[in-house]
Amino acid sequence: MRLRYRCPGCRTTSNIHDLGCEFEGTARTDVERAYTDLLAPLSARAYPDEGALREAVPARWSGLHAGVLSRLRADQRVVEEEDELRLLPPEEYRERVTQPTFEPLKTIYEKGSVPGAHDHSVFAVLAFYEMVGLSWEEARENTVEWLHESGTWDRGGFEESSPEELVDSKKHVYDQGYGWKQAAKEAKAVIDRRLA
Ligand SMILES: [Zn+2]
Repeated sequence: MRLRYRCPGCRTTSNIHDLGCEFEGTARTDVERAYTDLLAPLSARAYPDEGALREAVPARWSGLHAGVLSRLRADQRVVEEEDELRLLPPEEYRERVTQPTFEPLKTIYEKGSVPGAHDHSVFAVLAFYEMVGLSWEEARENTVEWLHESGTWDRGGFEESSPEELVDSKKHVYDQGYGWKQAAKEAKAVIDRRLA
């Protein structure tokens, strides 16, 4: 499983941040170092709280460290349960991330897509699974399952004859691995209008 060390503010993996990102101007290498600073101690053991983790970080605690930790927690890479702050092992993490918990992906995931939003929706769901580090096989399986369970496939409007064929036709989205945010935003707008 890959962790791509995305900017904790705008999720970019380059030096180019989104407009207004709170880490705008932060170099890629600094983002990567902040992840490494946090993941090294977290890979070794769990911590009773954030304070204990801060002390274990081999650098002076910065706003970037705090941002990366928030990002890791929001993405459920790191969880705090039973008075323990810990990094989820890959298998446990995979089980938890099958459902996006933040907008605009949450709406797409829960309500399913509607004709007119299909392209953007499938794009966003696949790119999300790529982002959280699933392999192509896992991303494909989860997306096919979503197409069925969300009612999306039953709403029709697809040229392909099966969900599997549809997902396979979008493999380039997974391979490129970027741009889900805009697609998700546009899909959510259509879904909200139709299913309001
Ligand atoms: Zn950023």
